[in-house]
Formats: sequence, structure tokens, C-alpha cells
Amino acid sequence: MGSSIDCAYFPKNLLQSDALYEYILKTSVYPREHEQLRELREETMKNSRALNPAMSVPPEEGQLLSVLLKLMNAKKTIEIGVFTGYSLLATALALPKDGQITAIDCDKSTYEIGLPFIEKAGVEHKIDFIESEALPVLDKMLQEEPKDEDLYDFAFVDADKPNYGEYHERLLKLVRVGGAIAYDNTLWMGTVAATEEDEDEDDPLSPQEKLDREALVELNKFLAGDPRIEMSQVSVGDGLTICRRLY
Ligand code: SAH
Ligand code: CA
Repeated sequence: MGSSIDCAYFPKNLLQSDALYEYILKTSVYPREHEQLRELREETMKNSRALNPAMSVPPEEGQLLSVLLKLMNAKKTIEIGVFTGYSLLATALALPKDGQITAIDCDKSTYEIGLPFIEKAGVEHKIDFIESEALPVLDKMLQEEPKDEDLYDFAFVDADKPNYGEYHERLLKLVRVGGAIAYDNTLWMGTVAATEEDEDEDDPLSPQEKLDREALVELNKFLAGDPRIEMSQVSVGDGLTICRRLY
């Protein structure tokens, strides 16, 4: 794949140069990317008229999620925001045979684009896909006190940014002590650090992107001060905040 194409499809990488990003992809990411992950990624790109492929987790971030899940020995995870399923397939491949993923998205049609590759990879049996707004699903899970065996090892949140704070409160009850919650896009193309003067007049944020930025700035401040977790802001992809539940 040509270098200009990589950066065109993953314009949100936060590295100092496109060449450095290319280097990482070519040296350690693409050579190790699972065949069906690559196929799912390529299929998502083929649909770029109808969909925005940049919404997918980029492959180097999928690789990080995979290593993290295996280091944690994760068996049971929850994902909010599936899109065509790149992060979902990376997760499903990283979990053991009896692993279980609850995957929630309000739009099943994008999941269906990635599903053939998930099936081909032989990991569909690990996935319980729920087509719904995420918040009511989490609330339903919390109607009764969850039993220990119902708790998740890991949660990946990659959906509507203004609700991340709401998801956080619920996931702190649904993920086990010592488990992790990861929030995606927490650096929002670097704009969380931007002032009004920094705004690029040729490429301004849309009103929705501005609302998302405000929400993420709030979230980042909140997480940094939340005593219930320890956390790390990782500058992979568009920014990934990994939180470990302390109590
Ligand atoms: N993790 C995915 C990308 C997710 S993009 C990947 O790697 O490909 C964000 C997704 O969140 C979209 O598919 C959108 O339909 C979903 N979404 C947005 N708001 C939501 C909500 N309130 N509840 C559930 N899903 C939501
Ligand atoms: Ca994302």
C-alpha cells in the first residue's frame, strides 16, 4: 500500500510526521496484522463513499488492544461503538476460545459489513451484538446488582463522546476491580489542547466536532482527578485513555 494512501485513510495519527507513522505501520503493524483484520479494513475503505473509514480504530491501535487484552488475560469484554468491527475483531482474536464480548452499536448495518470477515476468522461465536443505544443497555445490566461472574475484564468505549462520562459511571460498576476501561479519541486530532486562535481556518471543526472536543476536554479533566481509577493517556491513534479500576 502506498504511503500517501495510509495517511489519507488515517489522518488522525498524532505523530510528528507522516513518515514516522508509515515507518511504524510498515515495520511492525502491517506484517503482523491478521489476514481478516486487513480484509475488514480494506472492505471498510471500499465503502468510503458511504462511510468514513477513519472512524475505524487504526491498525496500530488494534495491535495495542490485542497485547493489552492478552497481558490482562481478559476473557469477558464489552465494546460500545462497533462501526464495521475493526476493534471488535481485534478483540475477538485476542480472547481465548471461550471468550465473550458484548458489542453494542445503535447501527447494525455497519457491523454487517465487517461480519463476513469476523466469521471467516472463526470468532463470531464470541460476540453478542446488541443493536441499541448504549446507555439503556448498561442501565438494564445494572438493574440488579451484577454477580461477580457477570463483571467484565475490559471495556472499550468508542461511540458518542458527550456520553463518555455517563458510560464511565456505569462501567465502573460493570468492570471488575483490577479490570480496565479504555476510552478512544481522547486527544481529538490534537484539538483538546487547541485555543480559539489555533483553529485552522481552512479546516475548521464542525459544530458537532466542537461539542465532541468540549466533551473530551471535560472527560480528560474528570478522569485525571478520579480517585477510583489509575490511568494513562496514550497517544496512539487519536488518543486512548486506559483506566484501571481500583475499587
Ligand atoms: N470501534 C469502531 C469504531 C466506532 S465508530 C471500529 O474500530 O471500527 C463509532 C460508532 O458508535 C458508530 O458505529 C456509531 O453508530 C456508534 N454510536 C454512536 N452513538 C452511539 C450510542 N449512543 N449508542 C451506541 N452506539 C453509538
Ligand atoms: Ca474511535
